[in-house]
Amino acid sequence: MPELPEVETIKRQLNSKLAGLTIKSVVILKSGREKPEGNKFIKVLTGKKIKSIDRRAKLIVWKFVDGSALVTHLKMTGRLIVVDENYKPQKHDRIIFEIGPQHLVWSDIRQFGHMNYLTSNELNATYDKLGPEPLEIKPQQIAELFKKPKTRKVKVALLDQSTLAGVGNIYADEALFRAQIKPMRRLGQITAKERLALAKAIQEILKQAIKLKGTSSQDYVDANGEQGKFEKMLNVYGRKNLPCKICGTPIVRTVVAQRGTHYCSKCQK
Ligand SMILES: [Zn+2]
Repeated sequence: MPELPEVETIKRQLNSKLAGLTIKSVVILKSGREKPEGNKFIKVLTGKKIKSIDRRAKLIVWKFVDGSALVTHLKMTGRLIVVDENYKPQKHDRIIFEIGPQHLVWSDIRQFGHMNYLTSNELNATYDKLGPEPLEIKPQQIAELFKKPKTRKVKVALLDQSTLAGVGNIYADEALFRAQIKPMRRLGQITAKERLALAKAIQEILKQAIKLKGTSSQDYVDANGEQGKFEKMLNVYGRKNLPCKICGTPIVRTVVAQRGTHYCSKCQK
């Protein structure tokens, strides 16, 4: 699923192409994952002028000049791709927006994603449920978030969007490897020094992944339809039984928080 670096990449590309433009038309090919549904969605969005495309956590937020917003969650396989007017709709396309001179296609193979039109109050309420943005606070502040509850596993805390926003399965595993902490350790067992190392690891990895436009280990492509380049930097995620790049020990895959979890049993304590 796209995490902070992938969503940030898409957001930057969309913002540079769409900010300041007006939605001329909306065509729904497959209804059911947009709110309000069907014709109401078309009616409310047609004619809206885009102020900017923002990101909060893993959400792409289209902000309109009237204060309302369209919040998009890509989930597992969602894509937002800018195409030209000659584009022919494909099987998994849900909605096509005509925006200024270009078209934007939202497609989703597994259909878990959604698009919700919100008032500014509803948008604020959505933001309030999310933890801070990891690249907008200091490492010391991130470290504070991982002190308690003491019995909680560190990987579970990393995935909790109300603790810290934007980190998902890939970057949680990679940050824990870099900080040399086993994913099943409980917060109460983690030292202050380890917490700070984890906080710095999270920031370093997210920054590096944004620079490389994300990881395309699953279906992710950016708004230009191109893959990210962080995959070759992965140390543990998706590397089950492959040798650790530091010590050569085969990488272990286990399940923590119902999610596939990868770590080096030697490098991580
Ligand atoms: Zn190792």
